Amino acid sequence: MNRPVDVSTLVAEASAGRPRAVARLISLVEDRSEHVREISAALAPTAGRAHVVGITGSPGVGKSTSTSALVGALRATGRRVGVLAVDPTSPFTGGALLGDRIRMQDHATDDGVYIRSMASRGHLGGLSASAPQALRVFDAAGCDVVLVETVGVGQSEVEISGIADTTLVLLAPGMGDGIQAAKAGILEIGDVFVVNKADREGANTTRRELRTVLSMTDRRPGASTGAGGEWAPPIVMTVATKNDGVDELVEQIDAHREHLEHSGELRRRRSARVRREIEALALTEVQLGFERRRGGLDLERLAEQVLAGRTDPFSAADELLSGL
Ligand code: GDP
Repeated sequence: MNRPVDVSTLVAEASAGRPRAVARLISLVEDRSEHVREISAALAPTAGRAHVVGITGSPGVGKSTSTSALVGALRATGRRVGVLAVDPTSPFTGGALLGDRIRMQDHATDDGVYIRSMASRGHLGGLSASAPQALRVFDAAGCDVVLVETVGVGQSEVEISGIADTTLVLLAPGMGDGIQAAKAGILEIGDVFVVNKADREGANTTRRELRTVLSMTDRRPGASTGAGGEWAPPIVMTVATKNDGVDELVEQIDAHREHLEHSGELRRRRSARVRREIEALALTEVQLGFERRRGGLDLERLAEQVLAGRTDPFSAADELLSGL
């Protein structure tokens, strides 16, 4: 994998919307290649263009079907769409995983759609460090919206909400989701709630339960109070397999975006995202520094000194840090 990399050409091609350049840049930032700093600098000016929409919910609830339906609905409004599928459990990365995902193939030949997957396990700094870089590649490619979806089973719901501007929480009837949702704390992270599989028995019960649970928090569902005011997360009923309710979902996503902009919340959320990213990158550097020094036997030497009573662990830690 030592193909020569010409960062400025790649960035220019990605900005012209070439899918191969977009894919290659995402691989390079994800793999933390030696070019990552140069790429990051080149992408800085276009950062923040796309509305980042996170899609969370239990496995089987219909996330990937909904993502595909949303891509279709967003394309119908003329927007360019990026999809970042995050797999918290898979060590694999790149296009392979999504190649298996039949539904996404509806969009495989559409040049206004970019689809990438990213494995988050084993990544230094986790999702907070790697996903924002990939989002900036989508920004440069002129995406108006990026859908970030978790695939597989994982604990990444809250992490997803940390990188999204708008977080969708999907539920479905008959999955015991009402209780699960409360347990997992996903009620706090949802900006728009979706009861998918509305064609199934029990969908209205699920909506009612959700409404009740939300009303016990300070997040009353229903009509939002509009620009500037508090956002009351709406509940949208969908049948993702038939695209039912998906246009309304897009309307609610757009309404939330407008709320974010007018209330100043967009800036607050993005600032928090970048703070976490910087922190994650800095901590990663520290970790890498430790690893390099471990090679130089620094840690062993310090451990010997602590064991021998010549120094204490706090002083040893200070010394380790001072040498980074
Ligand atoms: P994910 O694991 O959350 O990504 O869920 P999938 O999108 O893979 O969907 C799981 C299953 O539910 C698939 O067999 C879908 O065809 C089905 N499904 C998704 N949405 C709906 C829906 O609105 N109604 C019904 N009846 N089935 C659906």
